[in-house]
Amino acid sequence: MTELRLFNSLTRQIEPFVPVHEGEARVYTCGPTVYNYPHIGNMRAYVFADTLGRVLSYKGYRLTHVINITDVGHLTDDADAGEDKMEKMAAENAKSIWDIALHYTEAYWEDIKALNIRQPAHWSIATDYVPAMIDFAKSIADKHCYELDSGLYFDTSTVANYGALARAKTEDGEGRIAEVEGKRHAADFAIWRKTPAGETRQMEWDSPWGKGAPGWHLECSVMSEALLGLPFDIHTGGIDHREIHHPNEIAQNQARCHSDASGANIWMHNNFLVERSGKMSKSSGEFLRLQLLIDKGFHPLAYRLMCLQAHYRSELEFSWEGLQAAFVRLKRMVMTYTKWNEKLTEGRNTPGDSWEHERVTNDLVNRFEAAVSADLNTSDALTVLDETLALKGTAAACIVTAAHQMDQVLGLNLGRLTRQDLRIRPKTAIITEAEIETALAARKEARAAKDFARSDAIRDDLIAKGVEVMDGDPLGWDWRLDI
Ligand code: AMP
Ligand code: ZN
Repeated sequence: MTELRLFNSLTRQIEPFVPVHEGEARVYTCGPTVYNYPHIGNMRAYVFADTLGRVLSYKGYRLTHVINITDVGHLTDDADAGEDKMEKMAAENAKSIWDIALHYTEAYWEDIKALNIRQPAHWSIATDYVPAMIDFAKSIADKHCYELDSGLYFDTSTVANYGALARAKTEDGEGRIAEVEGKRHAADFAIWRKTPAGETRQMEWDSPWGKGAPGWHLECSVMSEALLGLPFDIHTGGIDHREIHHPNEIAQNQARCHSDASGANIWMHNNFLVERSGKMSKSSGEFLRLQLLIDKGFHPLAYRLMCLQAHYRSELEFSWEGLQAAFVRLKRMVMTYTKWNEKLTEGRNTPGDSWEHERVTNDLVNRFEAAVSADLNTSDALTVLDETLALKGTAAACIVTAAHQMDQVLGLNLGRLTRQDLRIRPKTAIITEAEIETALAARKEARAAKDFARSDAIRDDLIAKGVEVMDGDPLGWDWRLDI
């Protein structure tokens, strides 16, 4: 087996993966703040974490994966300014925070399922851990924190190398806002935010520092320690977390463990999915939710494939053309995989030296493994899968076994997806599948009767309704609805 090597944001180097506990891999992924629907950029972070988890499982590690759900504490600005995102959304919609959290958590889980992201061992919900957060804060308060009217603040000068992950110096004010009166350093951050006098929040708890709510950074330190123990193996998140959220988690972990170590051996960050106009946003332009892609007729796994085609550390620009290309590639993969599978179940095997066939596919599996072991090079891995499916003169049994193994890591669900699943009717379509099938049957009859005028008229009518008729398509797609 090839050694697994991963890029560690802490050292900015690719390093061998050496587990803390023999044979195990413990991974923590920063999850969504459930105040709104996730956009597909957010989902790229979970496709990445899922792929990492699948690679670890494939390589034989017993995986414990935690993804948290943030339902309190995340402010509209990462640097202690602004309002709590959940409180704000609830107030704007005259709903309880609990209703908001439930609704958007369920929407997020739907996207997780649609993208064939495996269930982690734990979905940790932040509000379930508030007593543990208070205990954690109490344990570090004396040596590392100070109290202001607005809350309990972490003094970032009390730990070694604060901000090393971000390559920032302690006094760097860049990207951080020292708006809070009395903060000792610009980078200091709230671990407990007191409810201002005369106000009530929907979510507040009693604490030694008065009624209030935990800081967002505290949540992840507490939940990762509670469920994985410190230190654990890998912490993941989007690249924005490398700047503030994760340096702050590290500072808390250092304080908690009386150590200079960061709490996780490897910190990994996926780069952003961007739109041509810039950063993806939930408020400006077309809100790119996974459901929008489906409404337009794309299968959600086409988006998963689009993510896997790029390296997780590269920026990926979203375009409908790019998604369309990924969808076509997915269709080809599914159809060829299905063809091999049918060949296998029908017992139509390719004759020849079975050892030679196995050697061919084993070589491909080894190349595949080497690709994903090299800091998750999923783009090369996909090329190897394409080569496997395109083999000629090799036994179907060997091809299906190899492709199935590869798909355990890629998660494209090749063995289950059918032609029917991939035919998603765009929401705007004005014709049903049954109508298309009926029209095509009538066209076939007309052609058999050499009534070409009628057959052309049927075809023109279908085209007018957005249906492309695909005579003689090598993969057997008789028609396609324009997306
Ligand atoms: P949030 O719900 O805002 O905390 O974000 C959830 C996850 O998505 C975090 O890991 C973010 O770093 C990540 N993220 C946010 N925007 C993008 C994007 N455009 N592309 C990739 N990941 C993103
Ligand atoms: Zn986090």
